[in-house]
Amino acid sequence: MNPFTIGDVTVSSIIERQGPWRKPTDMFPTADPTRAREHLLGLEHYLYDAVLDLLFTTYQTFVVRTNKHTILIDTCVGEDKPNRGAKLDYPKQPWLDGFAAEGLRFEDIDYVFCTHLHIDHCGWNTRLLNGKWVPTFPNAKYIFSKREYDYWEAETVKGSNPPGDVWSDSCLPIVEAGQALLVDDDYALDDSLWLTPTPGHSPGHVCVNVKSAGKNGIFTGDLMHHALQCIEPDWSSCFCYDTDASAKSRRSVLESAAGTDTIIVPAHFPGATAGRIKLSGDNYRFHFLGS
Ligand SMILES: [Zn+2]
Repeated sequence: MNPFTIGDVTVSSIIERQGPWRKPTDMFPTADPTRAREHLLGLEHYLYDAVLDLLFTTYQTFVVRTNKHTILIDTCVGEDKPNRGAKLDYPKQPWLDGFAAEGLRFEDIDYVFCTHLHIDHCGWNTRLLNGKWVPTFPNAKYIFSKREYDYWEAETVKGSNPPGDVWSDSCLPIVEAGQALLVDDDYALDDSLWLTPTPGHSPGHVCVNVKSAGKNGIFTGDLMHHALQCIEPDWSSCFCYDTDASAKSRRSVLESAAGTDTIIVPAHFPGATAGRIKLSGDNYRFHFLGS
């Protein structure tokens, strides 16, 4: 992803991994396979490996620099996390190298936002130091939806898997360190950065809205995983907690952004990642920045 601006705010990305990942029909269980392939063959070549029948997926953290704060949005899988499974056990040094390439030290981060508390969105929240999970960013406040946090705490107490260890090693230590703000789903940091509730993918999934110098951007987390879902907004992912609510939230954001200058920044889109929404017949198309 090339860095871009939203008014006076600059946005760049630290990539943990990218490349072919899951089959469309595995990722979107209600997708019609023929229609999915037709759509995918018409999209940018970097979105779909037609030979392997695999969607391209990026895991990345966004660095958002305002004139007041340095903010991270979503923190990938992280390192030294046990029981994440072989698929997520890929090298994590690229993320650390990417962070350093931003000219950042861990101490420089003022806020960490997690759109939700899934395995690939809160991993670098903590690091293992002398056998103990500690906040990676010692001076940061971490913004978690209280609804989301409470849900995963309850699931963890029940022994559900997922979440397995995710809440215990990547969320709870932040609260114990006194660095968490457990907030409502419409929390505003200030008049240029606020949350909107977009439940469905997870119970307390939120989007992070940025407004600066008359420009708008929305970091949409896992509201959608692939540009295919602009064409077929009702195709929710296999990882969605409530597929109907997920589709409803997705349609709501797509409808509000369609035809506007608002820059949409989904967590997992490859290539330029960010783009704008255009109406196309009854549905939508994702137009990547620079395309
Ligand atoms: Zn995700």
